[in-house]
Amino acid sequence: QGRHMDYDTVLAKRRQHIGPNTTLVYKRPLHMVRGEGCRLYDADGSEYLDCVNNVAHVGHCHPKVTAAIALQLATLNTNVRYLHEGLSSYAEALTDTFPEELSVAYFVNSGSEANDLALRIANCAAPGATHVAIMGGAYHGHTKAIIDLSPYKYEGPGGEGRKPYVHVLPCPDPYRGRHLDGRKAAREAIAEAHAAGGRICAFFCESVLSCGGQIILPEGYLREVYEEMRAEGAVCIADEVQCGFGRAGDHFWAFEEQQVVPDIVTLGKPIGNGFPLGAVVVQPKFAAAFANGMEYFNTYGGCTAAGAAGMATLRVIQEEKFQARAARVGRYLTAKLKQLQQRFEFIGDVRGSGLMIGVEIVDTKASKKPAPNAATHIKETMVARHVLLAVDGPHANVVKIKPPMVFAEAEADHLIAELSQVLEEGLPKEVIAADEQWQPKTPL
Ligand code: PMP
Repeated sequence: QGRHMDYDTVLAKRRQHIGPNTTLVYKRPLHMVRGEGCRLYDADGSEYLDCVNNVAHVGHCHPKVTAAIALQLATLNTNVRYLHEGLSSYAEALTDTFPEELSVAYFVNSGSEANDLALRIANCAAPGATHVAIMGGAYHGHTKAIIDLSPYKYEGPGGEGRKPYVHVLPCPDPYRGRHLDGRKAAREAIAEAHAAGGRICAFFCESVLSCGGQIILPEGYLREVYEEMRAEGAVCIADEVQCGFGRAGDHFWAFEEQQVVPDIVTLGKPIGNGFPLGAVVVQPKFAAAFANGMEYFNTYGGCTAAGAAGMATLRVIQEEKFQARAARVGRYLTAKLKQLQQRFEFIGDVRGSGLMIGVEIVDTKASKKPAPNAATHIKETMVARHVLLAVDGPHANVVKIKPPMVFAEAEADHLIAELSQVLEEGLPKEVIAADEQWQPKTPL
């Protein structure tokens, strides 16, 4: 529309000056210039329905959040070495949303930093233990230490594979009825560590397995694993970077669905509605173990503006009752997706918790064989219809839906109307052929 740099120039500058493996999403990358609620607008002024951005938790550019950040930036922005009533009050308000035991917070800048710090705290709490247990398919962040705890990356191209101190509990797959026994998985991981001459200091697990393919953990799974891990002296860490802050609908924190209280919880993405902020919330005894004489300092983590962003976001979640809304709209959308599942052979499973939903695309309902090419085809055809979706999971065949929480029934209807049309058009022959050829890297 004249005001914006033309598409090819933006793309050319990017290709020249931004690292090449900083990838773009969608075959034809989108040039967005504005966001509002659950909608994004490109440079041509076209509107897109955003069904995947769980960072813009209370909506893109929420006026109360942006105003609070702008005001703070215009007043004072400094670090945690000064007293600030905003940060103290935010730490209180944030920890108030947790079970009583989880009462101490550390502030960081991202989910990766939160998990990196959680690992350091666990190392202090379990001295001498150097091994770590994680879930299959997990992603916990991009730092050197945390990439090694992220099979989602280390198993893929450019990855260094599993390090000997890392032990993987296979991702439970309720749809295929595999690996559902948490106690068995935990015992095997612990035994593997012992056989390698080590002990596990930390167990990391997302409360809903997002990169693992939007997996809802089997009932009692975390309770069993936590019991085994704690008996071993390991610290139990819940990664709520994707699924926290009311998204799961019935609970504010997704770990509550499993009826456990973690030792440490890591937070990111939605916490500041897009402002770079993360947090690690711990039980006091872990904070005491970490206070071993070395100062914890983080230049931007918990800076005054970050505190304002976190507080404004939390207040909006509470005032606008987004948790209840996620439960209501999530149920509505899931029911509609299940109707599509009845109609279309290649929708194998629809699962979710609140507004954290996965649709598993398969060759046939009987075979349950993943169909990653079909999933990508659906994603790309939907973006051409201006509906943004993502595809994930160990076989890249799960369509992910995790929109800003302002998403309502009307947006769910819009998504379903577009998706039904795409599904009714059927899959192109070459997509079906590619999925017939496709074989999983690891057995299903
Ligand atoms: N944990 C989970 C579950 C994540 O999905 C991510 C990011 N995708 C991270 C941690 C890392 O967060 P960040 O990108 O903010 O460092």
